[in-house]
Amino acid sequence: MKTKTVQQVLPPPAPHMVGDGFRVHNFFPGGYNMGQKRMSPFFLLDYNAKIDFSPRETPRGVGVHPHRGFETVTIAYQGAVAHHDSYGHSGVIRAGDVQWMTAASGVLHKEYHEAEYSKQGGLFQMVQLWVNLPAKDKMSTPKYQSITAGEMNHYDIPGNGGRVDVIAGEFNGVKGSAFTFTPIHLYNVRINKGTSLTINLPENYNTGMVVIEGGIKVNESADAPQDNFVLFKNDGDTFTITATEDSVVLVLSGEPIDEPIAAYGPFLMNTHEELEQAFSDFNRGVFGYLED
Ligand code: MN
Repeated sequence: MKTKTVQQVLPPPAPHMVGDGFRVHNFFPGGYNMGQKRMSPFFLLDYNAKIDFSPRETPRGVGVHPHRGFETVTIAYQGAVAHHDSYGHSGVIRAGDVQWMTAASGVLHKEYHEAEYSKQGGLFQMVQLWVNLPAKDKMSTPKYQSITAGEMNHYDIPGNGGRVDVIAGEFNGVKGSAFTFTPIHLYNVRINKGTSLTINLPENYNTGMVVIEGGIKVNESADAPQDNFVLFKNDGDTFTITATEDSVVLVLSGEPIDEPIAAYGPFLMNTHEELEQAFSDFNRGVFGYLED
């Protein structure tokens, strides 16, 4: 096997608010102008680094808005988020849970802090990924997968070294439960100080990691502190991480979708005409109805 080398270790770009509930560092596509397909099939990575929200009766969040042509994947580390969409799907995710929403042909949804968490306030930390869909699936029926921490398969790192929660794809024979349209591996690696772990992922898959907690060394050379994004070159199929403290690392890797991208706001399509269609359908109420 050949080492997958680190292209860059990127500190979090300046944050911006999404609604009033999410204070996110956008690593791509905007934050670091790495190109719309550099991490394909992942189009966007918003990272809400740890923030302490004050208690509030009315939950903070983002009101009703549309999506078409892709999936939003929300991974909770601290705090709790409630979701509702125009297909009647709803759910709450808390630490360790994942919400995998396939917008596909189009949904309206809203994302708010869960009511009890909002009343109590406290630490909040989340990741939202936008996962592109291949052209043939962009107009498929919307769907919703809720993957709770309790039901997620995991791999135990030998020697009490921690565990790998497999959200999607497969790690050392352990399969994730998320259905994906294209090949994707997505893991939360919870690794104890001093432990090393080898991760094998195909050379052509675009691969990165977010250091959610703690700090790691990659391939025994590159230091990646908390809240940093590690971007790998597509030059090998194996790398190691060594925890310099007790750490949590989100690993994302996927087979690139080699199709044109036309992106605007909440829509991710292949052509400009499809974007115009999305706006027109949204304005005509084709995406359904959802109360604010
Ligand atoms: Mn959304």
